[in-house]
Amino acid sequence: MKKSYFFALVGLALGAGAPVGAFLLRCVTPTFPFSLFYRQEMVEHGFFYIYMLVGTCLVFSIFGFFIGRSEDLLIHKDVILSKEVLTDPLTGLGNHRFLHDTFKVEFRRHVTSRQPISCLMLDLDHFKVINDTYGHPFGDYVLKQFAGLVKRSIRVDDVAARYGGEEFLCILPNCDQDQARTVAERIRRETERHSFSHGGKKVKVTVSLGAVTSYESSGLNYRQLIALSDQALYEAKKKGRNQVVQTTLQMMKKYARRKSSKS
Ligand code: GH3
Ligand code: MG
Ligand code: MG
Repeated sequence: MKKSYFFALVGLALGAGAPVGAFLLRCVTPTFPFSLFYRQEMVEHGFFYIYMLVGTCLVFSIFGFFIGRSEDLLIHKDVILSKEVLTDPLTGLGNHRFLHDTFKVEFRRHVTSRQPISCLMLDLDHFKVINDTYGHPFGDYVLKQFAGLVKRSIRVDDVAARYGGEEFLCILPNCDQDQARTVAERIRRETERHSFSHGGKKVKVTVSLGAVTSYESSGLNYRQLIALSDQALYEAKKKGRNQVVQTTLQMMKKYARRKSSKS
């Protein structure tokens, strides 16, 4: 319930309290039995009670409504602000901060549910060339379109966020290695097929993807998953771009060894 309506109702109850309270207090006069007294009281002071009832109820409920409304406005502003803090203004996807907040929650769910979770790191190929050739605003347009394409290629429960620059990250809960490859390939294929055309300029873009899946036994944390997907992405770039590289067990072991030798 909106605070404005809630406080208006509270005002109404408080407003009714004054005349009803006065009436009840008068009724406890010891000399009269209640049934006789209230009739006489209403005949003599009926106008006073009705005036009080209508007047105080109206004033209190209007007062309550306006107090509630200012609270509603504050809550509304708060919601908009917290959305802005977590949203990338260019693409409308979640930003880096949103990504970490969400990944933490999803990873915890993955640990307790024992369902696999996958993570895809995406990076547009030779994006600097697009900026340099067609201009920064066209580059922005490509990023926006690409974000929409990614969003359309994943399930509603999956999460896509802008990791930074022309890099994006997808969190795929309840998604095993095979399913992760299918999703990654779908994004790669759709990007390759798509013509990014705007303001008389038309361009084809490709994307490289690094994919990693965590199973119950993986013993990784979510930051390590991100690091591993980044590593797989790096491999995809090295291999010639426009492809998906999935983190192998070997890569995971190498990563774990490096981590333990550092600590
Ligand atoms: P690679 O295939 O190795 O990823 O090459 P690349 O050119 O995509 O990578 P590089 O890191 O050299 O360049 C990334 C470019 O992305 C440079 C930067 O100006 C551009 N970029 C980053 N953020 C934005 C943005 O918000 N808008 C636009 N238009 N360009 C951006
Ligand atoms: Mg790039
Ligand atoms: Mg990059």
